[in-house]
Amino acid sequence: MSHQHGKHRRKGTGSGRPAPGRREESKTPASPPPAGDRPPSSALWAGEAERIAEAAPGLVGVAARAPAAPGIATVRPGWTCDLSSIDPDADGGLDKDEAKAALLVERERIKILQERLYAEHQRSLLVVFQAIDTGGKDGTIRSVFEGVNPQGCRVWSFKVPSSEERDHDFLWRYHAKAPARGMITVFNRSHYEDVLVVRVKDLVPDTVWRARYGLINDFERMLTLSGTVVLKFFLHISRNEQKKRLEARIADPEKHWKFDAADLVERESWDAYQAAFTDALTHCSTPEAPWHVVPANRKWFRNLVIARTIADTLAAMDPQFPDAQPGIAKLKVPD
Ligand code: ADP
Repeated sequence: MSHQHGKHRRKGTGSGRPAPGRREESKTPASPPPAGDRPPSSALWAGEAERIAEAAPGLVGVAARAPAAPGIATVRPGWTCDLSSIDPDADGGLDKDEAKAALLVERERIKILQERLYAEHQRSLLVVFQAIDTGGKDGTIRSVFEGVNPQGCRVWSFKVPSSEERDHDFLWRYHAKAPARGMITVFNRSHYEDVLVVRVKDLVPDTVWRARYGLINDFERMLTLSGTVVLKFFLHISRNEQKKRLEARIADPEKHWKFDAADLVERESWDAYQAAFTDALTHCSTPEAPWHVVPANRKWFRNLVIARTIADTLAAMDPQFPDAQPGIAKLKVPD
C-alpha cells in the first residue's frame, strides 16, 4: 500500500460497499449515572492536552485518538454502560471471507505504522484487552498482531499477583510494563483485574476496590499526558458462546491444554463478572481513554474491527520518521 507521510487511507472491505454502520456513531445507548454515583473525575481539563503538547511536542497521546471502527460500541464517558444492549453476535452485515480479506489490509497498515512509531521514538500505544474466560484475548492478539515486528511490540499477560507484586500498590506491576517511547504494548488482562476478579472473589474490601476506579483514571490520564495512547477493548461474548468454547476445549484433544476446570467454577460467577465489567466500563470510560465494547462471538468480525481501530489510531497518531542527518545524500561509504 502507499506510504504517504502517515496519511493512510482506510481501504474498503474489497466488496465495493462500505462496511455497514460505518457512517453512524456506535455509542452505547446508555443513561447518565445517578448524581453522586460517579468516581472522582480525572478527565483531562479543557485545554490541558493542548498546552502540554505545545510545551513538549511528543507528549500527550490523547491528541491522536481515532474513533472506533463501526460495529464497536464506545462507552460514552459519564454514561452508564448497558452491556445487554450490545449484541455479542453482531457481525456488521459482513461475511466471513470479506472480513478476512479486509483484515489483511488492516494488518499491513499496522505493520507499516508501527515501524514509523518505532522510528519516531516519541510516543507509544498501550492496547488493553479484557474479557471473561474464553472471551478470546489470546486469539485476538495472535491474529491482529501477526506480522508486526516483535522488536517494537510487547505482550504482557497478567496472572494472579506474586507475593512481591502484592507487596506493592496495585498499579505497580502494570506501570512497570507500560510502553516505552516508540513501542506498542499489549496488556492481556490488565489493571482492571483489580476491580474485576478482585471484586468478584472478594479479595479486598469494597471500599478498597471502589477507590480504584478513580486511581485507574488518574493512572491512564498520566500515561496519556506522557505520550501514550491508551486503547481499551472489552471482548463481549454471550453466556452461551462461553459454554460452546468450554465444550470445544473438552472435546478437542488439541485444546485440552487450554482447559482449566477452574473455568467451570468461574462460570458460576457469570452475572457477578458482568456486573463488575459494567461498573468498570462505566466508571473508567474517559474522554482520553474510552472503553470499546467489541461484539466478540464471531472471531473474524472481532479481529477485523479491533485491527481496524488500532490501525486508525496509529494513523491518527501519524508518527513521522525523524529528520535525516544533514547532507546524508552526499555521504560516501568507504570501500
Ligand atoms: P488467562 O485466562 O488470562 O489465559 P490464566 O488461565 O493463567 O490466564 O488466568 C490468569 C488468572 O489470573 C485469572 O483467573 C485472573 O483472574 C487472575 N488474575 C489476574 N490478575 C489478577 C489480580 N490482580 N488479582 C487476582 N487475580 C488475578
